[in-house]
Amino acid sequence: MFNDITTLLLHPKAFKDAVEIFVERYRDMGISAVAGIEARGFIFGPSIALAIGAKFVPLRKPKKLPGEVISEAYVLEYGTDCLEMHVGAVQSGERVLVVDDLVATGGTLSAAMSLLERAGADVVECACLIGLPKFKGRCSLNGKPVHVLVEAI
Ligand code: IMP
Repeated sequence: MFNDITTLLLHPKAFKDAVEIFVERYRDMGISAVAGIEARGFIFGPSIALAIGAKFVPLRKPKKLPGEVISEAYVLEYGTDCLEMHVGAVQSGERVLVVDDLVATGGTLSAAMSLLERAGADVVECACLIGLPKFKGRCSLNGKPVHVLVEAI
């Protein structure tokens, strides 16, 4: 079963409320960068970044970013994938929030955190709209908190 967040986007109030819940949580946490994971992290991440006065850093699939990148490969249920970030997108010690639509095994968020930490960033938390049953009950990953709005059943 695919959990489709595009249905939420069709309801402006629900979409706005979801973003505002995140904004309320993160506005005073000293976060200066929001890193969104391609592709659905790009739907929520920029709105949160603008509202809290942070920059937005896209973490993209391979060969999409034009500049020099650092890459982090990770294992999926069937095969592997990779995330890339522009060199210099985050500074050493910068406090970063990672945003995606959904967490299942946590493999994608772990790769995103590794990428950012290799660049010297301090990942404050990961934020997702949905947590799947595999992830149910967990509120941290690699020692970092993961904040989920809804747990799917
Ligand atoms: P994980 O790495 O196993 O935690 O899987 C999370 C990643 O897979 C996220 O980037 C999600 O966008 C994507 N994903 C996996 N299953 C679904 C789903 O049912 N709906 C939306 N995205 C999903």
